[in-house]
Amino acid sequence: MSETQNFIILGGSGAGLGVAHSFLKHIEPELRKLGKKYHLYIIDSSSHFFWNTGSPRSVVSAALLPAEKLFAPIADGFKSYDSSLYTVIHGTAVSWDVGGRTVTVELANDQNTQTTLPYYALVLATGTRTPSPATSLHGDHTITKAAIEDLNKKFASAVSVIVSGGGPTGVEVAGEAGHFLNGSAGWFSSRPSNPKAKVTLVTNRDKLLPVLSKPRALTAEIYLNQVGVDVVYNVSVVSSTTDADGKTTVHLSNGEQWTADVYIPAWGITPNSSYAPADLKNDQGYIKTNHATLRAEAAGPRVYVAGDVGDYSRGGFHNLYATIPVIVANIKRDLLEAATSSDGSDSQPNEPDRLFTPNNSETQAVPIGPRGVGAVNGWGLPSFLIWLVKGRDYMIRNVSATVNGNMV
Ligand SMILES: Cc1cc2nc3c(=O)[nH]c(=O)nc-3n(C[C@H](O)[C@H](O)[C@H](O)COP(=O)(O)OP(=O)(O)OC[C@H]3O[C@@H](n4cnc5c(N)ncnc54)[C@H](O)[C@@H]3O)c2cc1C
Repeated sequence: MSETQNFIILGGSGAGLGVAHSFLKHIEPELRKLGKKYHLYIIDSSSHFFWNTGSPRSVVSAALLPAEKLFAPIADGFKSYDSSLYTVIHGTAVSWDVGGRTVTVELANDQNTQTTLPYYALVLATGTRTPSPATSLHGDHTITKAAIEDLNKKFASAVSVIVSGGGPTGVEVAGEAGHFLNGSAGWFSSRPSNPKAKVTLVTNRDKLLPVLSKPRALTAEIYLNQVGVDVVYNVSVVSSTTDADGKTTVHLSNGEQWTADVYIPAWGITPNSSYAPADLKNDQGYIKTNHATLRAEAAGPRVYVAGDVGDYSRGGFHNLYATIPVIVANIKRDLLEAATSSDGSDSQPNEPDRLFTPNNSETQAVPIGPRGVGAVNGWGLPSFLIWLVKGRDYMIRNVSATVNGNMV
């Protein structure tokens, strides 16, 4: 056996876990047959994976979807493999020496401890964060769990709710809030008969749900109205302040100020890439990636970008899972080539790369309380199917499948 090489994955969510399981299942055994020894490191700021897809329901009430169900320990997903082949590190990548081919990680259990690891191959899969820690990880999962539970308490007595952002997260949160607080309109009614709360969804655009067609977006507004949600278009939230009584006042681009018991910002995601040098990122902070091979070519050989942190990503699991086979095929090709080449490193594969072709079709499923809108490859899906596939339980079954590697 040769000297052990480190294969490091930063981020243990959908993208990082997909590559990690693929590596242990399909690549490491082949390298071992060639006498090459690799050790996989999965590094994440959170000890637990977070199913953010379920958060629009969970933030409203634990009775609808308890926060505990959205989390699963990352380490548990790897128990079926030989433990000498991998290490799960609970820590945050804080810097990356591109020339020296090392990453420095701040360990979660002791804030003063940093460790620097050399890598032979590196996968960047650190994703993005939403403004609210209740809808994405902002460090360890305990922060997100506490934020969800805090919102649950506020929703229990809320009579006014403001959600900002007309994308799927904003529409889903507003739909869940309206349905929980106001119930649903009866047959032939456009509004609930006895609404308990004023729920308002504010968007800075003239249309909801940018990925979906205008008719489907208008249907979304009708469904929101049916759970007592009003939609305000072409207005953005400029800032928000927490008042002494715990309410929130939002300052709007039209000069108005509104106060509500609950305010949830559901727009404006930020890539988790502060550890990466500026010249490897685009203006928004996403990692510059070859959109076909999904390598970060400017970072030297064997550096790959998986999931939402890449400048090629359109977001969403269906897009992410379309990229995993491409990334894994190119990793396998690069590592097998290095294992068999005469100089043993940094050579380019003889065979062509596997290339990624994005699917830019209209594909999205958005539950809105008991109803929903959506499309697959431009074909509209009926409301009951959106409920059946997603709205029923927000696909909570995928939590263990993602962590255990059954999604890849
Ligand atoms: C509220 C919400 C609802 C959504 N609903 C859907 C849906 O219904 N369907 C769908 O297809 N998509 C949905 N998405 C999008 C989907 O969740 C993302 O596309 C997907 O999670 C991206 O996965 P990822 O692995 O690239 O990154 P992320 O899921 O963002 O995970 C990044 C991981 O990296 C870790 N990390 C970050 N920085 C560091 C660091 N410096 N060092 C170490 N670790 C780090 C984080 O802790 C996290 O575990 C939703 C997103 C949100 C926010």
